[in-house]
Amino acid sequence: MPPTPCRTCQEFTLAEAVANGERDWSKATDWRVLRKRHQETGEYLDQKAG
Ligand SMILES: [Zn+2]
Repeated sequence: MPPTPCRTCQEFTLAEAVANGERDWSKATDWRVLRKRHQETGEYLDQKAG
């Protein structure tokens, strides 16, 4: 895991926090999975599903 989150990581983290704020647990999980996948593969936000 990179020591400093990139901007995409931060956007995923923010989106997850917003989803949690909306009590939309499934969406929050989606964002968390997307962030993890992004960190593993270097994918970017515009490739997110949904
Ligand atoms: Zn990142």
